[in-house]
Amino acid sequence: MPAAPLRPRLGNHVSVAGGVEHAPERAHELGCEALQIFSASPRQWRAPEISAAAGRLFAARRRQWKLRPVVIHDNYLINLAGADATLQTRSREAFRGELRRAAALGAEFLVMHPGSAGGGGHAAAIARLAAAIRACAQGMRWGRLRLLIENTAGGAARLGGTFAEVAAILEALRGLPVGACIDTCHCFASGYDLTDPAGYEATIQELRATVGLRRVYVVHANDSKGKLGSHLDRHQHIGRGYLGDETFRRLLHDPRLKHAAFILETPIDRPGDDRRNLDRLKSLRGDA
Ligand SMILES: [Zn+2]
Ligand SMILES: [Zn+2]
Repeated sequence: MPAAPLRPRLGNHVSVAGGVEHAPERAHELGCEALQIFSASPRQWRAPEISAAAGRLFAARRRQWKLRPVVIHDNYLINLAGADATLQTRSREAFRGELRRAAALGAEFLVMHPGSAGGGGHAAAIARLAAAIRACAQGMRWGRLRLLIENTAGGAARLGGTFAEVAAILEALRGLPVGACIDTCHCFASGYDLTDPAGYEATIQELRATVGLRRVYVVHANDSKGKLGSHLDRHQHIGRGYLGDETFRRLLHDPRLKHAAFILETPIDRPGDDRRNLDRLKSLRGDA
């Protein structure tokens, strides 16, 4: 087994403009060690397949630039937890496409939002979600791909607002290659105060006791425009939101999370914001 890295690997969510095969070079030019992409437009149902040629090119280039892991984020329209039959059918079709494209790209992780319960309780919604994922994954050759459930800003019908609920979803998916993606903005917005040392430690302990730290494969590193417990999913530049630089320094130096890849999903308000946020994380990690 290769030696564990001393610090988490860092990267950005990068654009796939012009085709997915262009993403690795874009990531490399930003200085990424890992990357995340959408494998199709995240706000449209229509999603073209990835050609074998594009898949090979993508794989060759991510190897060339030593980008690891490759994370795919799923489409925002997908809701496999809802009771509405039409949306369930469309969502399943779209999610099957997500699985196919993630496998075609040789990605390590597919991150998904657990969705919204709609009418009825969360327990029934989790059961629907798990049944849908199992149905979509039937006959699937996973290879190295692992499905990660992302925690959310929570509130009302939104699933995944607590670590306990993420753990319940993982439990419902037992037997499949699954894990968790923890988004720092979503943590704060859902009520986990990562900003003071005691709150930070309590948050990590709760994560350990529910999801398990080993099962956190990806951290989405985003500062928060929304206040603690606001349930607002609004990402901010590192150090410019309520979480602040110190929170990210603590996370990046926590040996319990050093195995996870940290991926930025921060806004690009001005050209270069992606690079500036990555540089900031690197400097907080202690890079010279
Ligand atoms: Zn997400
Ligand atoms: Zn996220």
